Amino acid sequence: MLFCNPFKLFSSDVESPTNSILTTSLSKQRSSIHGSILETVGSTPIVHLPPNTKTNTTDSNLYLKLESENPGGSVKDRLALAVIEWAEHFGHLKKGQTVIEASSGNTGIGMAMVCAQKGYPYVCVMAESFSIERRKLMRFLGAKVILTNPAHKGTGMVIKAKELADKHGYFWPNQFENEANAWIHEETTGPEIVNAFKASSLSLDHFVCSYGTGGTLLGVGKYLRKASPKTKIHVCEPSNAPMLYSEIPTEYPPETSFKVPHPVWRPHLLQGWATDFIPILVSYATENKVYDSVLHVGGKDAMDTSQRLAVNEGILSGTSGGGCLSAAIELAKTLPAGSNVVVMIPDTGERYLSTPLFENIPADMTEEEKEIANSTPSTPP
Ligand code: PMP
Repeated sequence: MLFCNPFKLFSSDVESPTNSILTTSLSKQRSSIHGSILETVGSTPIVHLPPNTKTNTTDSNLYLKLESENPGGSVKDRLALAVIEWAEHFGHLKKGQTVIEASSGNTGIGMAMVCAQKGYPYVCVMAESFSIERRKLMRFLGAKVILTNPAHKGTGMVIKAKELADKHGYFWPNQFENEANAWIHEETTGPEIVNAFKASSLSLDHFVCSYGTGGTLLGVGKYLRKASPKTKIHVCEPSNAPMLYSEIPTEYPPETSFKVPHPVWRPHLLQGWATDFIPILVSYATENKVYDSVLHVGGKDAMDTSQRLAVNEGILSGTSGGGCLSAAIELAKTLPAGSNVVVMIPDTGERYLSTPLFENIPADMTEEEKEIANSTPSTPP
């Protein structure tokens, strides 16, 4: 495999690559004029939820890192840019070569965006169970979408992507084992958070994120351990799939972490979190104590919190952001008053229109709306 040894990359005797690998200059200033959509990846806003308000019912300050503000609508735009530009830099991706990647959708949309802008055909392999809007968005961006049987889970998606890459000579970044996935968060997301807190002279006490591939956890976590060692790092997982909590170690056959389904995994509602195996980037984070605690979230709590965030704060987030926030609120209840907690909001709510998150949101006029409509006579124009 191309870049599959996080152990090597992150060991102290191996020099980390520098930002010069990226050919896209990631701007610190979103208000300036950009050469391409790719320059607008990253530098996402952080929004404060003060204590004792409708959404934040705790004595702590919550700070939301809105990854939904990336151009493709999710945190995975960072990964897509990084893996493609690493592959270009190391000469693994030929001009016009087809790129293939397995994804629950957000990586797929980020990849489709990066590949469209750079002129690479893109094929996404995704289980049929992920939301229809994700498929449509990718196809709208010019990608092809190969659907796999949900019963074959995440493992099945990744194996299919590998098989198709081998058969057709496609370039397969393998986000689950690609160090560039964590590296980009160590280079961008982590510093963005630390710099924002330094600029406001605030202490950065806690950081809460989830894991899918583990790129966010490992990259941001590793940066915080260096640049803000007092910050406690918490990782969320679905209560239906307590894989990290179980502490069952994964024995990795060489270069194939995705071939080891985890015994305590059960289907869950948190799209983008915890596929049915522990990726090698997550194992590395565990072995190197990159996080301090594991928090559990139920699908209903995640959805309720996402809805509260929309209604009370005007912030659109997916089930994933609602899940991180729900876990952060439970955590904050146990913290000293005035603690500062950063919470990742990985994607936007618009990606969930066909999912249970929007199940109770009617498309037709409600009785109350009809009453308002009928409260004046309709005057035809
Ligand atoms: N939330 C959502 C909605 C996601 O799509 C993902 C990525 N699959 C994550 C969280 C987790 O991010 P990472 O892959 O960096 O662990």
